[in-house]
Amino acid sequence: MQYLSTRGGGSPKRFCDILLEGLAEDGGLYLPETYPQVDAATLQRWRGLPYAELAFEILSLYIDDIPPEDLRRLCTQTYRAEVFGGKPAITPLHRLEAGLYIEELSNGPTLAFKDMAMQLLGALFEYELGRRGQELNILGATSGDTGSAAEYAMRGRAGIQVFMLSPHGRMSPFQQAQMFSLQDPNIHNLAVRGVFDDCQDIVKAVSNDLAYKKSRRIGTVNSINWARLLAQVVYYFAGYFAGTKSNGEKVSFTVPSGNFGNVCAGHVARSMGLPIEQLVVATNENDVLDEFFHTGRYAPRTAEHTHATSSPSMDISKASNFERFIADLFGRDGARVKAAFSAGSFAIEDLAALRRFGFVSGRSSHADRLDTIKACWEQHGRLIDPHTADGLKVALQRRQCGVPMIVLETALPAKFAETIEEAIGQPPSRPAGLAGIEALPKRVSVIDNDVAAVRAYLDTRIDTHADPR
Ligand SMILES: *Cc1c(COP(=O)(O)O)cnc(C)c1O
Repeated sequence: MQYLSTRGGGSPKRFCDILLEGLAEDGGLYLPETYPQVDAATLQRWRGLPYAELAFEILSLYIDDIPPEDLRRLCTQTYRAEVFGGKPAITPLHRLEAGLYIEELSNGPTLAFKDMAMQLLGALFEYELGRRGQELNILGATSGDTGSAAEYAMRGRAGIQVFMLSPHGRMSPFQQAQMFSLQDPNIHNLAVRGVFDDCQDIVKAVSNDLAYKKSRRIGTVNSINWARLLAQVVYYFAGYFAGTKSNGEKVSFTVPSGNFGNVCAGHVARSMGLPIEQLVVATNENDVLDEFFHTGRYAPRTAEHTHATSSPSMDISKASNFERFIADLFGRDGARVKAAFSAGSFAIEDLAALRRFGFVSGRSSHADRLDTIKACWEQHGRLIDPHTADGLKVALQRRQCGVPMIVLETALPAKFAETIEEAIGQPPSRPAGLAGIEALPKRVSVIDNDVAAVRAYLDTRIDTHADPR
């Protein structure tokens, strides 16, 4: 399998080359040349497979530069019940009522769906770096979910260090405790005296110095990484098998969306032939994507026009994975994709094409979120987090008679106690083992909002002579 840039530039690459790269050289995102097609016999064979085996089968279609026995081992080591809340199904389907389900994706170590992909990415990175005899220093900025998922996926791994910048004093006590209580020497928490945008600016400034970036072997784990997206394709198949009795049936998925990464994996699954009727994109008040699927106009907002909401992981102005879907919509016309994304905003005329790809959308507000959390709790006895509530709200508007609707659960309520308490008048309970983590010793360095200070910190921790390969 070869991978190409959405903008048509550069030469085809193989999986392990794009694994350690971010954007393609022409600024585009990598996509497989074609989507492997899954026929009825294959679906039949996959139905009933344990999650790790299913992951291996799907990944094998896209990865031909890792020996199968190694890939299978990476999958079985990653998707273990012990890592995912003791649940052997890894992503169990929870029935709310007839035809309405929640697929649990948040039983991993940081209680959000990002663990599903990040845990595999950690295993793949360690494997490939080991094979090449290289080291990687991951530099990132986080306001919460991504940073913790990356740290828990990379902790203790050979050849990898993580340097995670977060805004000092601005994350919730639970989020701080999750990250700062890690004692692994390869994990570095840097609390920057500034806001999240300052952290991001520092990461950009360090990464834009290409000579520095190369000499310090600095990389990222951001959501445009194809391996992360590919890992997410697996749970659409798992959800489909759990929600249907035979492969003649169709299901729909509703996906709480920000960067368009999660739902883009659904688009890939559907493109492979998984019988998905609708892919429902659910946004919060930051409704750039909802606007697009209603009007055909894509107009990313500026940072000032991005609202801080009670589903904060979806507070995104520019959907970084969206270009992948647009490339498919444009029939992989790289020049047209490049023109659209260079212009910043664009509009498409053919709305019927969006429906052919199965997409519809809806948006939710703070009040909707509270109502949905409360109603779900009272009617179904199930407590959901604010992001999943955005999904459920839109799912209820979009579900169709006779088509099971699966809402993807993107986090556990324990992560967002304040909003839960506002909705139902009591705080959420925590999974076993996380009670009282705020009291654990913290490992964090507070640092000035200054690129030179961060570089100096990196320089004391990165050995520039050890890796001449
Ligand atoms: C990251 C995240 C999202 C958004 O997912 P995308 O892939 O960026 O669309 C939704 N909910 C939670 C809890 C998240 O952490």
